[in-house]
Amino acid sequence: MQTSGSLSATPAARPFLDALKRGQLLLPKCLTCSDVFYPPLSQCPRCGSAGLEWTRCSGRGRIYSYLINHRPAAALPGESWEVMAVVELEEGPRVLAPMVGLDDVSGVKVDMAVCLATEDAVLKFRPV
Ligand SMILES: [Zn+2]
Repeated sequence: MQTSGSLSATPAARPFLDALKRGQLLLPKCLTCSDVFYPPLSQCPRCGSAGLEWTRCSGRGRIYSYLINHRPAAALPGESWEVMAVVELEEGPRVLAPMVGLDDVSGVKVDMAVCLATEDAVLKFRPV
């Protein structure tokens, strides 16, 4: 899994990154096996098909797992993400992304409902 911050603007990722700028979550869907997957690739990671289409996802999901950073990340100057969550989207894929909009990290729970946070063009989630 990758965060959108580490996704380079390859042709395979460009529609995903452009959609984030519009506050939308767009992921590739395989036309052969119907798998919706993340990160965006030029071929389906499940069956290898290059027949893909972009599908707009709801942006809703549930926390599958998470970690709490107790120290600032030296590799991410200026960022103070305290909670990184593995979110299982309604459409199936799991994505790793920071959580925002939390009053207190102790409020984060596995299976908590979350949705895409659209404040900026980075993949982040917030509580519903
Ligand atoms: Zn496939």
